[in-house]
Amino acid sequence: WPVTIIIIVIGVIAIVALVTVAVLQNMPLSQKYKYGIVLDAGSSHTALYIYEWPAEKDNNTGRVEQTHSCKVKGPGISSYASDPWKAGESLKECMKEAEMKVPGKRHHETPLYLGATAGMRLLNMENGSASDQVFQAVEGALQKFPFSFQGARILSGQEEGAFGWVTVNYLDDRLKQGLETTGALDLGGASTQISFVSSNYNGSESPSNSVTFRLYGNNYNLYTHSFLCYGKDQAMKLMLAQQTKSGPETILDPCFHPGYNETKSYSDLYNSPCVSNRKPQGAPATFTHMGRGNFQQCQEVVKKVFDFTSCKYSQCSFNGVFQPLLQGPFGAFSAYYFVMNFLNLTNTSIPLDAVRQKIKDYCATPWKQVMAQHPDVKVNYLQEYCFGATYILTLLTEGYNFTSESYSNIKFIKKIKGSDAGWTLGYMLNLTNMIPAEAPDTPPLPHA
Ligand code: AMP
Repeated sequence: WPVTIIIIVIGVIAIVALVTVAVLQNMPLSQKYKYGIVLDAGSSHTALYIYEWPAEKDNNTGRVEQTHSCKVKGPGISSYASDPWKAGESLKECMKEAEMKVPGKRHHETPLYLGATAGMRLLNMENGSASDQVFQAVEGALQKFPFSFQGARILSGQEEGAFGWVTVNYLDDRLKQGLETTGALDLGGASTQISFVSSNYNGSESPSNSVTFRLYGNNYNLYTHSFLCYGKDQAMKLMLAQQTKSGPETILDPCFHPGYNETKSYSDLYNSPCVSNRKPQGAPATFTHMGRGNFQQCQEVVKKVFDFTSCKYSQCSFNGVFQPLLQGPFGAFSAYYFVMNFLNLTNTSIPLDAVRQKIKDYCATPWKQVMAQHPDVKVNYLQEYCFGATYILTLLTEGYNFTSESYSNIKFIKKIKGSDAGWTLGYMLNLTNMIPAEAPDTPPLPHA
C-alpha cells in the first residue's frame, strides 16, 4: 500500500503543477501600470497625488486610482512671494517620495502637472511679477525630476469647479453608466466652487457659468461658479473686516470662543486683495481679538459678507451671481469635510436645527476648555472651527439656498474609493484624454 500512496501523492502533485502552469499561462506575469502625478498648489498648502491605471486599458475600461499622496511641508506656494526660490525647494521632499513610489522604468513617461488655484490667482492680481517668479521657481525645481513635466499654471475658477465635478462623478462610476450626476461643493482657503447639472439650465441665461462635456457618449451641461475670496480663510478676513471697519483697538468677536484673546496686526488682516481696499484709515498697528462665542451673532456677521441686494437673472446665489435650481445629490469636500468632520457633523440626516444647536454649543465653549479637549489639534485650525462651521452653514443655506430638506442631499466626503475628492484627478483625466468622447467643440482644456 505505501506504493499506492506514493503514486497518488505524485499524481496530485502533477495535477496541481499542470493547473498552476495553465493558470499562469493565461495571466500576464507582471501587470503593467501607467502613472500620472498632479500637484495641487492650494492657497494654504500643496499636495501631491500619484495616480495609477492598467497600461493596456488606459483609454476607457481601466479605473484610474490614487495610489499615494504627499502633503508638502510649509505653506502654499503663494506665500513664498518674497522668497520664490523656497517655493521650489518646498516641493522637493514630496517629489523624492514620488520618485520612490513610481517604478523607475516608468519615470520618463509619467506626466507631471502642477495646477495652482485661488492663492496664486490672488497673488497674480496683486503682484504679477511675484507670481511669475514663484512659477519660475517651481518649474525649475520640477524639471529636475525624471518625470515628463507638463508645466505649471493657474487654473481658472471654472476649471477648478468643473474638474472637481468630473472627479466625483468618475470615482462614483456615474459617467460611464450615464447615471444622474452628483454636484460638487469645494471649499478651499481662498475660493469656493459649486458645480452641478440642473435640468432647468441650458447655459443660455449665464454662459460664463456653463461648461459642456461629452463623456462616454453622454452630453452634460454643467453649471459651475467659483467665488474668489469666499474660501474659508479669505471669508474669515471678510468677516473680520466687517468688525474692524472703524479701526478699533479691540473687537469682541462672536465667531471665536469666549476667553480667546490674541493681538493681531491690521496689516496682516488687510494684506489680501479681498480686503485691502477696506483697510480703515488711521487704524492702530494692532487690535486685540477677543472671543464672545455666540453662534447667532456670528451668523449675523457672516451673513454680511454676502451681498443679496441685486440679481439681474431669474435667480441668484449671492453677489449677483446666477444660480439655477439646486438639483440632485452633492458631495462637499476639502474644508467642508475638515470642519464638519471635526465637529462630528458629517451625517447630514441630522436635522439642520440640531446641527445649528451643536455649533451653537461648540462656539459657546470656553477657549481654554476647547484647547484642553483637543491637545493634538493644531491651534491654528482649532481656533477657527466655530467660524468655519458657521460660515459653511450660512454659505450653504443663505448663499446657495439649501433648505432643511435639501441639506440631507449633501454628503461631506474626503475620499471616494480611496481617491481624494478634488479637482486633480479630473484635471489629469482630461489632459491625458482618458475619458473618451469629448464633444468635438470642447477639446480638452489646454494645460499651458
Ligand atoms: P487650500 O489650501 O486653498 O486648498 O484650502 C484648504 C483649506 O482647508 C484651508 O482653509 C485650510 O485652512 C483648511 N484645512 C486644511 N486642513 C484642515 C484641518 N485639518 N482642519 C481645518 N481646516 C483645514
